[in-house]
Amino acid sequence: MAANKKLLVLPGDGIGPEVMAEVRRVVDWMARKRTVSFDITEDLVGGACFDAHGCAVRDETVADAMNADAVLLGAVGGPKWDSVPRQHRPEAGLLRLRKDLDLFANLRPALVFDALAEASSLKLEIVKGLDILIVREATAGVYFGTPRGEETLPDGTRRAIDTQSYTEAEVRRVASLAFELARKRGNKVHSVEKANVMETGIFWRRVVTELHKAEFADVELHHMYADNCAMQLLRDPKQFDVIVTDNLFGDILSDEAAMLTGSLGMLPSATLGAVDAGGRRRALYEPVHGSAPDIAGTGAANPLATVLSYAMCLRYSFDMGDDADMVEKAVQNVLAGGLRTADIMQPGKAKVSTTVMGEALISELDKLAG
Ligand code: NAD
Repeated sequence: MAANKKLLVLPGDGIGPEVMAEVRRVVDWMARKRTVSFDITEDLVGGACFDAHGCAVRDETVADAMNADAVLLGAVGGPKWDSVPRQHRPEAGLLRLRKDLDLFANLRPALVFDALAEASSLKLEIVKGLDILIVREATAGVYFGTPRGEETLPDGTRRAIDTQSYTEAEVRRVASLAFELARKRGNKVHSVEKANVMETGIFWRRVVTELHKAEFADVELHHMYADNCAMQLLRDPKQFDVIVTDNLFGDILSDEAAMLTGSLGMLPSATLGAVDAGGRRRALYEPVHGSAPDIAGTGAANPLATVLSYAMCLRYSFDMGDDADMVEKAVQNVLAGGLRTADIMQPGKAKVSTTVMGEALISELDKLAG
C-alpha cells in the first residue's frame, strides 16, 4: 500500500451528496484495485452545516482542510437558506475555505469527450480531442483592487471606480503554477493580458517573461492579448495547452472555454494555493455547477463533473497522472457506450440515473484495469 493521503470530502447541499456518493465509489474502487487508499474525513459545509451547527462551516472543518492533502467539495446552497443571515449563508462557507486556504489560482479545464463533441456549438473537427486548462488568478486584480466605489463629482454627476492592481509576487505565483502544470501536460503556456493598453498588462508580461527565463525555459511560452485569445478560443482552440491570465480576463475566458465542451454537468474545477511548510499545495476540487435544487433528490444529477474533479485531484495534488487518465478514460468509454444523464441526453442514447452512471463507471474501470 502506498502511504495514505488525507482527503477531506465535503458533499454540501442539493445534488452535492448525490454526486459525491458516486465519487466515493470510484475512490473505494481505487483503494481495492489500485492499492491507493486515502484517509477520508467527511464533513458538513453550506446549508447542511448551518442546519446542524448554525454556521456555514465550522472552525474544525477549516482546520481539517488546512491539514488535508486535498479537499473535494460537492456544491452548496439552495432556496431553503435564502433567509439565513448573510454571514451564515451556504456560500459563506465556501468563501471562507477559499480565503483561509489562500487559494489563489482557479483551474478550469475544457476537455471535450469524443462522444459529446457534437453537443458543442462549434464544428466537430474544431473541438474533437480538445484538452486545455485555464489558470485564472483568483485573489487579486480588478475584483479586489482599491480604490473602488462610486462618488459624486463637484459638478454633481457621478462616477464609479475599480482598480486593476497586481504585485510582482501575485503574478509570479500564478505564473509559476501554470508553468508547473504545463510540465505535467503539453508543456506549453499562453500568458494572456492586454499589454497593448494596460500598465498591469505590460507588467504582467514582463514578470512572466523574467520568470520563464529564470526557471521555466524548458516550457514553450507565448504571449497573447486577451481579445485575441477570446477569438482564438473559437477559431482554433486546440492551439492552446495551458492559458494563464488575470482574474477578470480569466473569469470571462474560462466560461467561454467551458462552453466549448457542452454541458455544466461535465465541468470540473480546482482552486490551488501556496505550497505549505510540509511541501503540500493547498487544494480544493469541485464541479463548476451548483447544488441544482430543481433536480435534487430525483436521481437526475450528472455525477461526471465531480468525478472529473476527483481526477484533477489525482493529477494535480497526488501526482497520479496514470490513475487520473484511467478515470477520464472510463468517463470517455461510458459516454461512448451511449449512457447519458438527462442534462446531456441526445437522441438514440440511453437515459440513466446518477447511480446507474456511477455503476457504469465502475464497470468501465474494471475493464480498463483488466
Ligand atoms: P446550478 O449549477 O445549481 O444549476 C443550473 C442548472 O443546471 C439547473 O437547471 C440544474 O438542474 C442544472 N445542473 C447543474 N448541475 C447539474 C448536474 N450535475 N447534472 C444535471 N443538471 C445539472 O446553478 P443555480 O441554479 O444558479 O444555483 C442553484 C444553487 O447552487 C444556488 O443556491 C447557488 O447559490 C448555488 N451554487 C453553488 C455553487 C457552488 O457550490 N460552487 C456554484 C453555483 C451555484
